[in-house]
Amino acid sequence: MKLYNTLSKKVEKFSTYEEGIVKMYTCGPTVYHFAHIGNLRTYIFEDILQKSLEYLGYDVKRVMNITDVGHMTSDGDTGEDKMQKGALREHKTVYEIAAFYTEAFMSDIDKLNIKRPTIIEKASDHIDTYIEMIKVLLEKGYAYQAGGNIYFDVSKFPNYYELSGKNQEDLLVGVREDVEEDKSKRNPADFGLWFTLSKFENQVMQWDSPWGRGYPGWHIECSGISYKYLGEYLDIHCGGVDNIFPHHTNEIAQSESFLGHKWCNYWCHGEHLNDSTGKMSKSKGEFLTLSLLESKGYNSLVYRLFCLNSHYRSQLVFSYEAMEATKNAYQKLLGKVASIRNDRSGQKELDKIEKYEQKFKEALENDLNTANAVTILYDVLKSDCSNETKLYLIESFDSVLSLDLLKETKIEKELEDYIEEQIRKRNEAKKEKNYELADKIRNDLLEKGVELKDSREGTTYTFRK
Ligand SMILES: [Zn+2]
Repeated sequence: MKLYNTLSKKVEKFSTYEEGIVKMYTCGPTVYHFAHIGNLRTYIFEDILQKSLEYLGYDVKRVMNITDVGHMTSDGDTGEDKMQKGALREHKTVYEIAAFYTEAFMSDIDKLNIKRPTIIEKASDHIDTYIEMIKVLLEKGYAYQAGGNIYFDVSKFPNYYELSGKNQEDLLVGVREDVEEDKSKRNPADFGLWFTLSKFENQVMQWDSPWGRGYPGWHIECSGISYKYLGEYLDIHCGGVDNIFPHHTNEIAQSESFLGHKWCNYWCHGEHLNDSTGKMSKSKGEFLTLSLLESKGYNSLVYRLFCLNSHYRSQLVFSYEAMEATKNAYQKLLGKVASIRNDRSGQKELDKIEKYEQKFKEALENDLNTANAVTILYDVLKSDCSNETKLYLIESFDSVLSLDLLKETKIEKELEDYIEEQIRKRNEAKKEKNYELADKIRNDLLEKGVELKDSREGTTYTFRK
């Protein structure tokens, strides 16, 4: 397996601390609102990474947090408290908001066929772990108390700029724009580990600590939960590219200072989903959720396929035209698989199975080239393999692609809906005496293996073998 490592800025050969076992940490959602489909792209990438490693024979132990405390609207610990913002918006408590949007997130990832991580933990359930780590960071001199808060002193961690590739000057530019900067910090880039001086009135989530009642910083959550469930050594840490700085940069600083050694070997980041205007965010334009796509007639797996058709490290441009094209491709794919399944002829050809599985593995091993992996699936469908061989390979590949290619009810429902929609369009065309269009629809369906039969009672269809 070769993976691009943000730490070295190179595609590297992957190896694990413990043979055959991958310890993988993936940053979870901040549950104050629905997940944006751009955020979900990152979870699809992480799912493909996990399933590829499993396909290659690794045993993957994956942990994800649910951020329900400490995350501000700016990742640099400034701005509003996201959870409180959600609570005010909906006239609910922060706990109700967290419960509701955690459920919504889980439902989204289920719809996308994303395997739930082995361990999913709420940030607010691990306050003791953060306190224990902060105590050690203070004892070792990496952290200090100022203005009532506990900060990490970035000048004590020489590799602070390694992951982001930024330098101190780059960071200062960002910090200077920040008017809310706490003047008691030693360095502008120092970040909060524990806040006792809440600038938010009626902050609900507060806990006792040796430094006063307060709440943890966002970054310590992931370091804490990872340490508690995966131990001192981590193989892969993932997130979106926007997590590289400051979130993951800060995680490395505090974890390695706490542990006293290197922590995680591979840092893998998924690129943004953009629209034609640039980065999509929750604040501008339409708030794109999975439910919105569904309401417009796009099955969640159409979105999954859309993501798989591009590389996780490339920016992907979202448009409804692209969704429409992917929807057609997906329906066509399901139609092809259905026709193969309806004719289970021939024997399993082991040599061909081995050949195509090898090609599929090579695509995944090449820094998760999912677009190539999908192409290999098409190659199999077009090949001279027996239908038994094809079905075996489709099932094998779909354990990673997770497009429900062999899920009967889904295929039939999708296909039925599609055919019925086409018949309706054809009847309309006939009514308007647009016979050219009516014939085109009939021929298009025929090409997909669906034969229409007209009678007095209406139009029926059969699948041609
Ligand atoms: Zn995180």
